[in-house]
Amino acid sequence: MDKVVIIGGGYAGIYALRELIKNKNIKITLIDKHTFHNLQPEVYDLIANKSSIADVTIDLTTLCMGFNHNYLEYKNLNVKKIDQQNKKIYTEEQEIVDFDYLLMAAGTRTFFPSSIPGLNSAHDIKKLNWAMFFKQSFENQLFKKIQDEAKKCDDTHIVVVGAGLSGVEIAAEMAYNSKMFFKRGNFSCDNLKISLISSSDTILPGLTSSLISISHKRLKSLGINVITNTKLQKCEDGFAYLSNGTKIYHSFLIFTGGIEASKITEELDVKKNSRGQIIVNEYMQSDKYENIFAIGDAAEIRNKKDVIMPPNVTIARISGTNAGKNVLNLINKKRLVKCDPKLDGILIALGGKYAAGNIAGLFHVSGLVAYEIKKYVFQSYRKPLLKLIRLGYKKLKKL
Ligand SMILES: Cc1cc2nc3c(=O)[nH]c(=O)nc-3n(C[C@H](O)[C@H](O)[C@H](O)COP(=O)(O)OP(=O)(O)OC[C@H]3O[C@@H](n4cnc5c(N)ncnc54)[C@H](O)[C@@H]3O)c2cc1C
Repeated sequence: MDKVVIIGGGYAGIYALRELIKNKNIKITLIDKHTFHNLQPEVYDLIANKSSIADVTIDLTTLCMGFNHNYLEYKNLNVKKIDQQNKKIYTEEQEIVDFDYLLMAAGTRTFFPSSIPGLNSAHDIKKLNWAMFFKQSFENQLFKKIQDEAKKCDDTHIVVVGAGLSGVEIAAEMAYNSKMFFKRGNFSCDNLKISLISSSDTILPGLTSSLISISHKRLKSLGINVITNTKLQKCEDGFAYLSNGTKIYHSFLIFTGGIEASKITEELDVKKNSRGQIIVNEYMQSDKYENIFAIGDAAEIRNKKDVIMPPNVTIARISGTNAGKNVLNLINKKRLVKCDPKLDGILIALGGKYAAGNIAGLFHVSGLVAYEIKKYVFQSYRKPLLKLIRLGYKKLKKL
């Protein structure tokens, strides 16, 4: 029986899995070092205390049990080494997993430049345990402000470095929620400040000027201090030192300045880019091994015009689905299908029931309409997975 292994139960890995289970005569193993699929794009709601862990995770055990496949198993293992010649995967837990076909879907992590001293202590928003820590820190900050009330009411500062999608969304949601918190309690000590630092001359570099302008206005209206053309130089004794000569004393700092491929991709002796992402062909295969595929954020994926696609959920879905199909095609000795990645738009959550976006590159939306569309997109992704985990839970508990 052919053995297919997916490393990474994130968006890309799960989309690949949904294709692979169509063949009931292969052995599929999904490996993830976490027990859950982290719905990263929804994590800003968690941090801002709008949702809980249960809302931003999909349990991988019950998910796999929910699929109708006799030879599908999920293994909670941390992959440490891959022997591509002998087709073996080595894990921290000392378990060895064999494969005939491998899909690398291990995603990315936040890149902390070593040139910024003190930055290691900052929190990686891509990891759920840090997001939880951050949620608690945020809540603690709000509580601290109330405790301070009758005394001195000093300024409290949160710094978000990096004004790409995640930085902007997190800053906006925190600003909105702290505003609402102070308003709800009529607290007099409400001077919690949020600064968003961008090394570019705008926030959201690369997006349309109209989207940048709508988002910028919204951040300003939420009282966020947007600092552009400025780099973080070092973090020391609670201060963030900036290239514009200022320093900010902060309660905590979130760095969202860039990404690099997950460490495990280093293990594969295949062509990679400077961020460690595996460069794949139009079938999502690595350059050296036709049985090794890379998908989602872990891969450098190009469209038909040879333009590199940004790492996001849409590209994870398209590449994961394509690779899943192509593994089955290889097994069945059929022709491989080319991947045609296209973006269907962008939607940015900007605090509360307000978002801004661009639909299929055709028109802009903002406000409540954009928020509802974004919510609908998230729900449509989550709905089939929730159905599967409920089914898996019932099977597990023999209900
Ligand atoms: C705060 C934030 C907001 C975002 N907002 C949006 C948005 O609004 N829209 C959008 O399209 N995208 C957004 N993104 C990006 C989106 O989350 C990613 O593009 C998407 O998660 C990529 O999916 P993936 O499957 O490639 O990787 P991931 O979802 O990162 O999954 C990788 C999996 O691999 C596992 N793994 C890694 N290393 C190992 C190992 N050694 N052994 C075993 N398992 C391993 C991890 O545990 C993880 O489960 C956002 C990201 C963040 C952080």
